[in-house]
Amino acid sequence: MRRVVLVILDGLRRDFVTAEHTPHLAEFATRAERFSGYRSAFPSATRVVSATLATGCWPARHELQGNSLALIEDGALVPHDAGHPDFLQHKRRATGRSLAVPTLAERLAPHGGAIVFNNVSPGAAYAHDPDGHGHVYHRVGAFGPGRTPLPESEQLRITLDAAGDRAMTDRFTAEVLTARRPALAVLWLGEPDHIQHGAPLGSPEHLDVLRAADRNVAAVVRAVDRLRAAGDDVLLIVGSDHGHQTVGGIVDIDAALVAAGLKESAASGDVLAISNGTSALIYVHPEHDARRPRLDAFFRTQPWAGTVLTAEELASVGQAPRHGLAFAISMKADDTPNEFGVPGTSIAAKPRDGKPDRLGCGQHGGLAAFEQSPVLMIDGQGFSPGTARPDPVRIVDVAPTVLRHLGVDHAGMDGHPLQSCAFHPKETLTCETILAS
Ligand SMILES: [Zn+2]
Repeated sequence: MRRVVLVILDGLRRDFVTAEHTPHLAEFATRAERFSGYRSAFPSATRVVSATLATGCWPARHELQGNSLALIEDGALVPHDAGHPDFLQHKRRATGRSLAVPTLAERLAPHGGAIVFNNVSPGAAYAHDPDGHGHVYHRVGAFGPGRTPLPESEQLRITLDAAGDRAMTDRFTAEVLTARRPALAVLWLGEPDHIQHGAPLGSPEHLDVLRAADRNVAAVVRAVDRLRAAGDDVLLIVGSDHGHQTVGGIVDIDAALVAAGLKESAASGDVLAISNGTSALIYVHPEHDARRPRLDAFFRTQPWAGTVLTAEELASVGQAPRHGLAFAISMKADDTPNEFGVPGTSIAAKPRDGKPDRLGCGQHGGLAAFEQSPVLMIDGQGFSPGTARPDPVRIVDVAPTVLRHLGVDHAGMDGHPLQSCAFHPKETLTCETILAS
């Protein structure tokens, strides 16, 4: 039976995969093909990447455009935290759809199904399957087809930390991989992202948790080896969604706009600056579109702004000017090392809900070098063990790769399968049609 197992270590930077920090991942690299030109989405934030990975489409098409974002509802700009468990259900009620394109869970429902075990924010977990085509397990609530809540005895009541990840991995390998055997099994660990937000990158606390996350990978690899020995044709994908930068400063963009006379007040709905960690999405209510040239000039002279994209430039990062999205800013970044010698420092945008960013700890969301250097390694048919492929590879390429292994059509996705031409899952596919797809 053809199957795909996808393991994500949230927030893992590519340069932290070493024999010292992550011995099991380093060993896995010798039997997998590594993608050294792999990049995250924009914003490089978990909920955005989750929807991008699940649909094989950029945010411009799936519409989960930020970890936090705004929607125009009843004529007003309304800010939302997309990590909230109900966000995509609310979006369906407000706009007529949750995600605007089908997920892997939907595409695979008639082909062996998908089961997702996830220990990040509920909004990110449910972005894998907002319309209830498969099973999604999260500590806030686990659902089966039709978004039917599972009985309490089947819920995933774990903590967001290394111990929770460990318990989730144990259950995933025994129950999902060995017993239930779906076409697609996803294990999305909360670490090392969770510790990186609370401790400096490279600190002893960070490295301890990173080693624990690495041991979970080893447990999955052993389980996959048993499946292969029993005759399954398994594609094993191990990676991360984004990296991290060190927070070198925090800026309240809304307050700066009010001080510059470009926003009426802290609570006004004319202009909203919505933090996505080390990036920000700037929304302008349509009644105030005349303010855009002054906003543009303002952002381009701010010392905290790195890359400033106008509405017309959003397509270059896979985004679209929906719901008044007028500018996207990747905050200023450089390669300055932190106290543990880990390079990459960024300014963070202050979040609206007051959730504190910790100076000196990790954050992500922008276009800077280390937050855009996640991990991707693939072991299975169509991939060359122990080699590194340096060409640009994107988050949107993962879903078509999953479907190609399973022999399911990926029409309508923005990405392309990563298997080499020599891999022909269907007799009818030629190398030419693979290259053209
Ligand atoms: Zn993440």
